[in-house]
Amino acid sequence: MTPKNQLLLIEDERNICNFIMTTLKSNDYKVTDAPNAKTGLSLAASQCPDLILLDLGLPDMDGIEVIRQIRGWSNVPILVISARTQEKEKVSALDAGADDYITKPFGTSELMARIRSALRRSSSGSNQLSPAQLQYTAGDLIIDYEKHIIMIHGEIVHFTQIEYKILTFLSQNAGRVITYDSLISHVWGPFADSNNRILRVNMANIRRKLENNPADPQYIFTEIGIGYRMRDNEIP
Ligand code: CA
Repeated sequence: MTPKNQLLLIEDERNICNFIMTTLKSNDYKVTDAPNAKTGLSLAASQCPDLILLDLGLPDMDGIEVIRQIRGWSNVPILVISARTQEKEKVSALDAGADDYITKPFGTSELMARIRSALRRSSSGSNQLSPAQLQYTAGDLIIDYEKHIIMIHGEIVHFTQIEYKILTFLSQNAGRVITYDSLISHVWGPFADSNNRILRVNMANIRRKLENNPADPQYIFTEIGIGYRMRDNEIP
């Protein structure tokens, strides 16, 4: 049996806290909870959890600041819990170094999927190249990072260099939402204009080549106001 993952939940709302704690424990995770940022930060440092679930609206500190502080000394995956109306906060949280977010109210299966996905990414970041770092596969799409080729339905499809860069960045972060700004700065450099028109144009071209029906994408999903999320890699 694999050792249980240790999680830390930083959340001040009792109901949500209880719901998450119960869900995690019944799914065999070990979990500690903290009702505020101060306790959360000290537990994060003393317990070195495998993943942190963080509510952005805490009584004693802004959640974004909590992310910045943790990122000062740790790469532990941080999954943000936020309210539906907090689009700007979600973007700031991701740009501050959070790995992903989940919007309240959320169901058990969504929460568990997000946690598994974040834990999988963090464990595949170790020294040896994992299969997922060599290739991305989902449905009829294969991206071979070594050979630099993209195949759809078994045929090589040509993408421009910019399109390829966008696709590799999204697919190497599959399952995780990537903000417009971080995608733009990855593809065009840190001083690029953060106006995302050129990104949208490229994305439209990518979807035209990639998707059977670009209006109902199966590979790259838009998170409105935030960024894009690419479908999970089927290679573990
Ligand atoms: Ca709260």
